Amino acid sequence: MDLTEPDIARIREQFDFDRSGRVVTNNAASTQPPRQLLDLYRSLTPFYENVHRGQSDASRYTTDRFESSYDTIAGWLGAPSRRSIATYRNTTEAINAVMYSLLTEFRDGDNVVTTMLEHNSNYVPWHGLCREILPRFGRRVELRIARFDHRTGELDLDHLASLVDARTKLVCCSGASNFLGSKPPLPIVRAIADAGGYPQPTGERRARLLVDGAQLVPSSFVDVQALDVDYLAFSFHKLLAPFGVGVLYAKEHLLEQSLPFLYGGDMIADGQVTPDAVGYNGLPWKYSAGTPNILGVIVSAQALRLAVDLVGGDPTRMHFRSEDPVPGPVVRRTMDRIGEHTAHLTRRAMDGLSGVPGLRMLGGPPGTPRSPLVAFTVAGWSPFELAAELNRHGVESRAGCHCATLAHHDLGLDPPASCRLSFYLYNSNADVDRAVDAVRKVVAHRPPAPTPVGGRHRREAA
Ligand code: PMP
Repeated sequence: MDLTEPDIARIREQFDFDRSGRVVTNNAASTQPPRQLLDLYRSLTPFYENVHRGQSDASRYTTDRFESSYDTIAGWLGAPSRRSIATYRNTTEAINAVMYSLLTEFRDGDNVVTTMLEHNSNYVPWHGLCREILPRFGRRVELRIARFDHRTGELDLDHLASLVDARTKLVCCSGASNFLGSKPPLPIVRAIADAGGYPQPTGERRARLLVDGAQLVPSSFVDVQALDVDYLAFSFHKLLAPFGVGVLYAKEHLLEQSLPFLYGGDMIADGQVTPDAVGYNGLPWKYSAGTPNILGVIVSAQALRLAVDLVGGDPTRMHFRSEDPVPGPVVRRTMDRIGEHTAHLTRRAMDGLSGVPGLRMLGGPPGTPRSPLVAFTVAGWSPFELAAELNRHGVESRAGCHCATLAHHDLGLDPPASCRLSFYLYNSNADVDRAVDAVRKVVAHRPPAPTPVGGRHRREAA
């Protein structure tokens, strides 16, 4: 059942932005944190202590909360246990962790296949690996990039299949594009990766599959075992939690066998450090070197539980502040509700924008599955000036390449930029209508002088 307007009004009461009148439509960058999560930080401070580093009640209390957060995250993703979960600062760091852990496994003549749809976080690390790092060790590993259909934004699966061969160690693919909105069909991508037949050190004969779930996990039900992904990365700051925590899911046997990405304290087995040998801690702590973002991880896992409560994912009980397992059907209902609501908002925005003169929406037509966002350009307008004008109307959009730099260049956009509106569970029809109305009004006025390429907007974060 869809979220109704009264549901949305009730949800918005939990967020500070609602009192400010902001039209928060840049959610693909980061979502807003509900007040309960910020209050949760406060309620943890009487027991503020490090984890795995003290015998006090406070340290044990915090350690228990921290460890059980891994169970919540694992359960949410359908992972077999916390042993498959590592936490990092964000998606970018999680993907880099895979890259550095696998660094020594590549053999001369191997290749990595990625796509033109990728965020720089899932392209630049592989570029760095293949073009900068491995060549310094005298190893040649090719980086191959699959195309997408310029009209629909869909990944070209035939081209992807043609790039995967018996030397493809890894396929790196976005689960949902943060620019064109397209969602590559992961079961087909999995089958393509399997068909390569690469002999992995684990004995398997197939390419590993890494999915960038930064835009997928916040608004879709994702079951890592059903999808059979080897690695999945996402960031909690796009899923209600405050900034600072990203997740890497990886198959347990891969984490067992890989080298760590970071070395140091707490990733070491008790007492097993001598001048000659170091023994690693058991999973998942082998991948948790140094003091982690303890409160951030606890609050992030609770953000998942709060999402259930906010959208009514479980009619039988509330889940926030509890540590009981969240049943799979409850996760599914929660994410289906979020997915349906945000898809509805996106369709409404696309319908509204379709009548604006000179406006070109990028990616598939309304009605095709897409992440809850729409990126567009308007003839005669710099996307940066457009976003600045929208901001004057109180509407928060984002102009730039959204770190999807490859795709912007591939589409021939000059400058490589677009304006993007993106939605989350607390957005209302009124938000969408205000945003669309603002675009109409701004465009109806004479366009301002174009921003020179290389001008002040070139510093937008990639
Ligand atoms: N991948 C995609 C598809 C994204 O949208 C983003 C965030 N814009 C990232 C990766 C990077 O996320 P983070 O900045 O949290 O590392």
